[in-house]
Amino acid sequence: MSKPIILTVDDEAEVLHAIERDLRSRYASNYRIMKARSGASALDTARKLKERDQSVALFLSDERMPQMSGTQTLEQVRRIYPDARKVLLTAYADTQAAIVGINDVGLDHYLMKPWDPPDERLYPVLDELLEDWSASYRPPFGGIRVVGTAWSPTTHAVKDFLSRRQVPYEWIDVDQDEAMREVCEGLSPNGTRLPVVFFPDGEPMLEPTTEQLAERLGLKTKAGHPFYDLVVAGAGPCGLAAAVYAASEGLKTLLLEADAPGGQAGTSSAIENYLGFPSGISGGDLARRASAQAQKFGAELVSPRVVRAVEAGFPYHTATLDDGSKVSCYSLIVATGMEVRRLEAPGVSELTGAGIYYGAALSEAASCRDLDVFIVGGANSAGQAAMLISRYARKVSMLIRGDSPASGMSHYLVSRIEATPNIEFLTRTQVHSVVGEARLEAVRLLVGDEPEPHEVPADAMFIFIGASPRTDVLEGVVALDPAGFVLCGPDLLKGGKRPAGWKLDRDPFMLETSVPGIFAAGDARHGSTKRVAAAVGDGSSAVGMVHRYLATV
Ligand SMILES: Cc1cc2nc3c(=O)[nH]c(=O)nc-3n(C[C@H](O)[C@H](O)[C@H](O)COP(=O)(O)OP(=O)(O)OC[C@H]3O[C@@H](n4cnc5c(N)ncnc54)[C@H](O)[C@@H]3O)c2cc1C
Repeated sequence: MSKPIILTVDDEAEVLHAIERDLRSRYASNYRIMKARSGASALDTARKLKERDQSVALFLSDERMPQMSGTQTLEQVRRIYPDARKVLLTAYADTQAAIVGINDVGLDHYLMKPWDPPDERLYPVLDELLEDWSASYRPPFGGIRVVGTAWSPTTHAVKDFLSRRQVPYEWIDVDQDEAMREVCEGLSPNGTRLPVVFFPDGEPMLEPTTEQLAERLGLKTKAGHPFYDLVVAGAGPCGLAAAVYAASEGLKTLLLEADAPGGQAGTSSAIENYLGFPSGISGGDLARRASAQAQKFGAELVSPRVVRAVEAGFPYHTATLDDGSKVSCYSLIVATGMEVRRLEAPGVSELTGAGIYYGAALSEAASCRDLDVFIVGGANSAGQAAMLISRYARKVSMLIRGDSPASGMSHYLVSRIEATPNIEFLTRTQVHSVVGEARLEAVRLLVGDEPEPHEVPADAMFIFIGASPRTDVLEGVVALDPAGFVLCGPDLLKGGKRPAGWKLDRDPFMLETSVPGIFAAGDARHGSTKRVAAAVGDGSSAVGMVHRYLATV
């Protein structure tokens, strides 16, 4: 942890040197002493210190300086460090400026030059001010800070990216923090660009894309080789399991993930039915452990990186990635899972990210403190989100189309929700439309057979209305069922006949698609059980099939 700072400002080199010397001799063990030769330079230094989350305890400035006087300097730095103590160094003739400064700048003290002997005329004043400052001093967070506006889609994307990777960060709402607003305005004078992500070391990033953030965080975003034994598309529970088994069994394995490892499970606050975790495990935790395990065995995890196209060949298949690069492999496992279904109601798409979220309960729950929140959906994912958000929100209303939540939600979850006083079920209720300018303000609900919707104020709405397979990349490459799920193994045999184009003298293996060497597993597969354990089982079984396939090429 770096020491808090005392910044002294004077344009006269000799005076600056003398005050710096006296400050060092008394305070260097607890404070870092810094100096600036002008008000502008002090202001610049203060901004940079704020960007790096450094604490300033005291500004000590000479009044008489060209361009910017001491009073003006302290007035400016006060906007960046409102809690720092401010002391003016004055000549007798400047006493009036100092007195005015006490009111206008919130000056804590003024000292007369010369301050000799410092034991009598400098240290007692500064000791008291520093002691006072220390009493309310809160050490800085020391990690990544995300500064933006609440209810902004771009800010939400950054927060979601970091939280899904379990990267700790401090969230600062620029509308609640004048000092950070000042710093952000200074970074982009032609119009503030938010969010700004500040790092403890190095330059802040303005409106970063997730790919830029990933690179800055040292995540691997490019494949290290052009060819692998096995490429796994998708790092949900299924893809992660496949990578763990494949790499541990010696296959050169590349795992490509479009978003964050963990998939749908990664958005769950508590998975309580996964074997071996009697108290439950958060999806993020499971993803972090599985990613580490896969990489420990030598699997290469690249994210965020989307597989845009698949070209089936023999004996190689090739995947084209969203940066235009290509990777080839003997075998490909498609573990691309499912994506949330969008709610088709007027206003929803415009306000997505600005009060309306798909999933995202983990990253936004804490922003729901004392708010009225609506959750759309009646399955387990909606129930888990309601439980999490109810810890913060004033009230959580669950909107359910059916007569009761029992049909879509596990019994244990229904009981827990019923025992939580600030969650209510609104059955036979659906969203007619949403209302809001820059952010969600109200939802219009249709209840039962009522002909007209009624409007209720709403601060946030989380949508969990099911999912559809993410298999568009395979259209025209392998056989899919009418809903888009990938057909595999016995499901491909119609009346005992092998699929069209199948040239091998054997039936497709269990999890093999209509193209030899391309496998599908997890939620993306036709007929799969949509559960974490099932996806993990599918992923590991697919690796067994890959070995059998590789023995033939
Ligand atoms: C909120 C929530 C809570 C849940 N809770 C539970 C629970 O408590 N217990 C339980 O058993 N199940 C639960 N489920 C279901 C469970 O999470 C899924 O069944 C499981 O995650 C499926 O795993 P998967 O790996 O097959 O697919 P997914 O989890 O969907 O993962 C697929 C991955 O592939 C990536 N991807 C997609 N397309 C591409 C591409 N073109 N290129 C690269 N990557 C791509 C995606 O970004 C994603 O990370 C829950 C689901 C949700 C949404």
